[in-house]
Amino acid sequence: MSTPVWSEVRASMTLERDLFVDGAFVPAASGERFATVDPATGDVLAEVARGADEDVDRAVAAARRSFEAGHWSRADPAERKRVLLAVADLVDAHRDELALMESLDGGKLVRDTHAWDVPGTAAILRWYAEAVDKVYGEVAPTGRSSLALVTREPLGVVGAVVPWNYPLEMAMWKLAPALAAGCSVVLKPAEQTPLSALAFARLCAEAGLPDGVLNVVTGFGAEAGRAIGLHEDVDAVAFTGSTEVGKLFLGYSAQSNLKQVWPECGGKSANLVFADAGDLAAVAARAAAGVFFCTGQVCSANSRLLVQRPVVDELLDLVRREAEALRVGDPLDERTDLGPLVSLEQRTRVLGHVDAARATSRLVTGGGVPAGLPEQGAYVQPTIFADVSPTDPLWAEEVFGPVLAVTPFDTEEEAVELANRSRYGLAASVFTDDLRRAHRVSDALVAGTVTVNGVDAIDVTVPFGGFKQSGYGRDLSLHALDKYTGLKTRWFHL
Ligand code: NAD
Repeated sequence: MSTPVWSEVRASMTLERDLFVDGAFVPAASGERFATVDPATGDVLAEVARGADEDVDRAVAAARRSFEAGHWSRADPAERKRVLLAVADLVDAHRDELALMESLDGGKLVRDTHAWDVPGTAAILRWYAEAVDKVYGEVAPTGRSSLALVTREPLGVVGAVVPWNYPLEMAMWKLAPALAAGCSVVLKPAEQTPLSALAFARLCAEAGLPDGVLNVVTGFGAEAGRAIGLHEDVDAVAFTGSTEVGKLFLGYSAQSNLKQVWPECGGKSANLVFADAGDLAAVAARAAAGVFFCTGQVCSANSRLLVQRPVVDELLDLVRREAEALRVGDPLDERTDLGPLVSLEQRTRVLGHVDAARATSRLVTGGGVPAGLPEQGAYVQPTIFADVSPTDPLWAEEVFGPVLAVTPFDTEEEAVELANRSRYGLAASVFTDDLRRAHRVSDALVAGTVTVNGVDAIDVTVPFGGFKQSGYGRDLSLHALDKYTGLKTRWFHL
């Protein structure tokens, strides 16, 4: 397939700017708007409706009405499948503009959004659409004098609050299983990246999703996000974002209606490289991809590299060369490897972590802003610190930027202990050629996903989520359907 001409796609692209409530685009009740900015240039892309309490009330009411009307929640699974497959086809048909929108709004490389994010979104939708008419209930073994049917019922109104690093895909991790299960949803995209969620809502309407089943309220976390968390008529919140905000949602639930909350939060994933890992150049390429992909704004990024002492110098040098070879620049240029961070605020945060780390660790490369790029672009150099101790802030804190912390270890036991010394437990990687070691270490690591001889393995077929303060929500796989359904038992005395 030939690469689209992005200037032409941009010229024909429609940006929705209003909230999507009950099947229509409407301004916020307050009439207020906020700017969403292209982080590569600092240019304002659109002034988007600033939703708050009243708008969330309206969206939740529409979701509740649609849920109770039953056009979706009680529709045959095969009918929900038909509509969701039609939405997926429309996502594919609008691939170019969605990919460009995602790149402009979040600074993501357009080659990635076009190759992965948008097709991945359609694939997730199709997978859940195809799954939903294959989920069976149970007949409980109660004895012959009674019959007990156990069924999975759609849960009700779900609030989905998502981050900016994969705006469309993160939303789809929630929306696809929730909609397939028959729930109605109020989605709040991150304030940095509201555009693709609104475009997706338009496609849902076009595909025939009944009004009120999907509502999108754009706005700020402390306003629209908080209002969803505190709402008395939201049955569950599926959240992806930082651990701090995940904790707030648990508090909102406690202060309101005890809604279920599934937090999918941050990470500080360890990558353990043993001296028997084999081809170190190949390991270095993967280690670099593991931390620098998407400019480090990946929750499962392998931001801690633990290397067995005999190979630490060689591997560090190879990873440094990988980092220095990365081309930082315009996300619309197909040759770019590293685009900007999502915003200048995020860059200030990342550089703050870097400056703090200078006092305790050895800067190997990067550490600043690359030259020759737009001044208002949120660019930062791929950065590596060596000799990072487990007592350093850089060991503990999620940077969410292209910053790698490298630490040597001597024994397998020490490596596992160091890797597990974290408040997070989202993901980990192990590089070794020893099968027994691979089994032992992957078993001992406290992480939701452990990848052996690779980084960041994710697929719709397997659950994704963490342990400890990475949260306990699990997205993807058939297990995700459990979150959006409640078990119901019906007894028949015979
Ligand atoms: P964030 O927690 O700041 O924001 C996430 C969402 O919560 C946004 O929609 C935001 O508007 C909303 N929000 C913010 N403050 C709020 C408040 N006071 N009340 C209610 N809602 C509020 O996170 P972010 O900066 O957008 O994303 C980065 C974080 O997301 C990182 O910690 C990263 O690890 C995490 N993340 C986790 C996963 C995962 O699957 N575990 C995936 C992607 C990102």
